[in-house]
Order: sequence, then C-alpha cells, then structure tokens
Amino acid sequence: MVRSGYGVVDSADQADLIIVNTCAIRDKAEQKLYSLLGRLAPLKQQNPDTILAVGGCVAQQEGATMLSRVPCLDLVFGTDALNRLPTLVDRVALKKARIVDVGPRVSGENHQNPRTLKSGEGVSRFVTIMRGCDNYCTYCVVPFVRGRETSRPPEQIIKEIEVRVAAGAREVTLLGQNVNSYGNKEGLVSFPDLLTRVNKVSGLERIRFTTSHPKDLSEELIAAFGRLEKLCRHIHLPVQSGSDKILHRMNRKYTRTHFEERVARLRADYPDIAITSDIIVGFPGETESDFQMTLDLIRGIRFDSLFAFKYSDRPNAAAAQFKDKIPAKEKSRRLQALLDLQQQITLEKNKALIGTRQFILVEGFSKISATKEVQWSGRTSTNKIVNFRDDPVRDDQPRQPGGNDLTGKLITVVIKNGFFHSLLGTSVIKSPIHVRRKGVQSRAA
Ligand code: SAM
Ligand code: SF4
Repeated sequence: MVRSGYGVVDSADQADLIIVNTCAIRDKAEQKLYSLLGRLAPLKQQNPDTILAVGGCVAQQEGATMLSRVPCLDLVFGTDALNRLPTLVDRVALKKARIVDVGPRVSGENHQNPRTLKSGEGVSRFVTIMRGCDNYCTYCVVPFVRGRETSRPPEQIIKEIEVRVAAGAREVTLLGQNVNSYGNKEGLVSFPDLLTRVNKVSGLERIRFTTSHPKDLSEELIAAFGRLEKLCRHIHLPVQSGSDKILHRMNRKYTRTHFEERVARLRADYPDIAITSDIIVGFPGETESDFQMTLDLIRGIRFDSLFAFKYSDRPNAAAAQFKDKIPAKEKSRRLQALLDLQQQITLEKNKALIGTRQFILVEGFSKISATKEVQWSGRTSTNKIVNFRDDPVRDDQPRQPGGNDLTGKLITVVIKNGFFHSLLGTSVIKSPIHVRRKGVQSRAA
C-alpha cells in the first residue's frame, strides 16, 4: 500500500482506507471484530468515499457472508489475497464495487515485498518463514483458514531479514505454526540450518522464533541454543493441557511425560532458558481431575509466563462436534484459578532476578516521569521486559539521563525490582560484551 501512495494516519476518521486485520483463533476475537465494525460504520456514513476493508483469517473464513452481514464493508480479502490488496483497493475505488477475494495465492506471489520497507520501522521485527499448518489439532481453525503448511525458501527469508536490518531492525522473530517442520515438505534446509544462516546476517543482534510444537522439538534445535550466539534463551512451547486424556483428544501427539522430558532436557543444557507456554482450559470432556493435572504440571514446570485461553468452538475444527462441552462459568473459574497460580510463579521468578545483571536490547522509551526522568524499555534474552533508567555507574563520559537515544542498543542493566509483567532496573555499562566464550555473557544472553 506504501507503493500505491498510502501512508499511516493517526486516527480512523482521517483515513481514506481502513483495514481491519483479523484473527479467527478464538471466538472472542471474532466477536470483537463485529463490534469494531459497528463503531466504524458512522465514519463511512460521514464520508462514503472511505474504503472499509477486512483482511486476515476471519475474512478468509467468512468471505461473502461477511459482506452481506456488514453493509458498510467494501472489501473482504483472505489470507492468500494479501499481495493483491493494492489492486483490490483500486477496483473498489474506481468501480465503486464491493469485492470479496478469498482465492488462493497465485504462484510467484511473494509473502512479503521487502522493497516496501522503510527505515525507522522498529528494533524488533517479525519475519514469516512458513504459513499454514498440517497438524489438525482438534480445537484449531488454523489449517482451515491458513491452509496447508508451506515454507518460504531460505534465500527469500535471509533477503527480507537483511532489508529489515538495513531499515533499523536488530532482532527478528521467525514465525511459523510449527517451526520444527520448516522446509520438510519442500526439501529445503532444516530449521536449525536456517537459524545458522540467519545467525550470520551482519548487523542482526538477536534471533527469536515461535512456535515450536513439543512433539517435534529436536536435539538439533536444542543444540542450536548453545551453538548460535544470537539465538535468544527463550522457547515458547505450548503444552495445552497436563492430562494425557485431553492431549489425546486434542490430537497433540505427545504425552505429558514427553513434554516434561523435553523441558528437563532444555534446562539441563541451559539452566537460564525461559520457557513459556499456552494452555486451553475447559476443552470438551475436561474433568476437574484433568484440570488439576494441568495445575500440577504448571506447579512442576514453573513456566516463566503463560497464555491461557478458555476453549471456544471454531468452525470446521473437529472438537466443535465433541459432545461433553464445559459450561462457560466453569471455564471462567478454571481460567482464573490457573492465572492466579501462574501470576504467583511469574512474580516469584521475576523477584528472583533482583540484583542480577541482564543484557537487554533497548526497544524505546517506556515513559517520562513527572521529574522529567526518561525510562527506557527493552527485553532480556529470556524475553522479559525491563524498564530502566539510563544511569550508568561505570560510564566514562557522563551525560544527562535520557540524553542519548538508546533505541536499538544493547545495554547491561542491574535489576532493582520484579513485577508480574516487567522488571525495573538501572543501566550499568554502556557498551555490550561481544565475545562468546564458555561462561562469558554473549550478545543474546
Ligand atoms: N501452532 C501453535 C501450537 O501448536 O502450539 C499454536 C498456535 S495458536 C495460533 C495459539 C494458541 O491459541 C494455541 O496454542 C491455543 O492455546 C490457543 N487456541 C487455539 N485454538 C483455540 C480454541 N479453539 N479455543 C481456545 N484456545 C485456542
Ligand atoms: Fe493449530 Fe495445532 Fe497447527 Fe498449532 S499445531 S496451528 S494448534 S493445528
């Protein structure tokens, strides 16, 4: 859209084109979309030339139904129509037509055109390495809205990362529904090999990835954390449930014991690695005893943080047909009990970091206090947010706090306090440590 002359405005009422990007993973996200479209409708009445478009997975799922349900909508474009967006918008503007495009990607269309990237885009960027999923977990809509798994060629991924680094990125997060199976179908390089190539991109400081399916977490990938100095010490490993019966009904293809063994394996080699996860509560047939097994797993593993969700039926997903649904009130109770437990664990883990030195990549300001003191914000290698004052105790060139822009810099910070969502610190040295030797802090560490 940048190449078609579009730019970003501050509010929807100034826009010629409003695009709502959607997620279909849970029912709640879909409900939010319709209430947002209701709030946007008056803008369209005030200015009938404003184009209102919906893209992403709900668009893919609903197609023409959405256009008839929402009269003010001009364009519905699915997940594979993204590259056609400029043409679709032109057609809406010129022909005053209402259009639905949920068709497949035309061969030769790229995932992303790096030429449209601009500088100052941000320190940390997401890079899609694969799309779709072949796993068919019984609760999940992804295989139906994103299609079968396909991987991008490594050369294209590296090119995009190089362009992003030239535009100011210092960290990339490689995205896929199951990065462990990257390239398998197409006979490309393995995921650890891809990481090795990304690690060589000059100017890039840190690499993250998500998501890794516990059934496929290989020894080769575990070894990559030790081998690649830019690979951050964090893994998101969604377990979904602590009950083997529920894992089986979810079609996750691993057992609780397998999951616990993989976590133990990771921690044996990297005691400092952060492990986060996703949990679904109230999956059909989940008894109180199954739920207690999930709480027990959480107590045993002590994740650094968790994303927890109440199960919701999704179109086409097998579990939508399962009979023994859990009442909404019970799902809410289980979610709250789980969140209370995790909150306590996360807080204890964050408090345990008080007094430690952490190496962080600064992403920008967090706030300017009443006393005009600037607080910066960055992340540790373990993906914890650290807000800090730039008050170096060993700085050769004294300067006013906040006088220099630290965005994109690697800074060592001593942790002063730990909260549920973040850590508070103060910077201690200006320049990062570049050397990677055993026992020596690395760029990513
Ligand atoms: N590919 C990842 C994996 O296999 O773990 C998960 C991707 S999904 C986009 C993110 C999370 O949404 C899942 O891990 C799951 O916890 C949650 N989720 C997916 N479908 C759901 C549903 N129908 N109800 C509630 N939560 C759901
Ligand atoms: Fe959905 Fe399962 Fe694929 Fe993850 S692995 S995207 S949960 S089907």
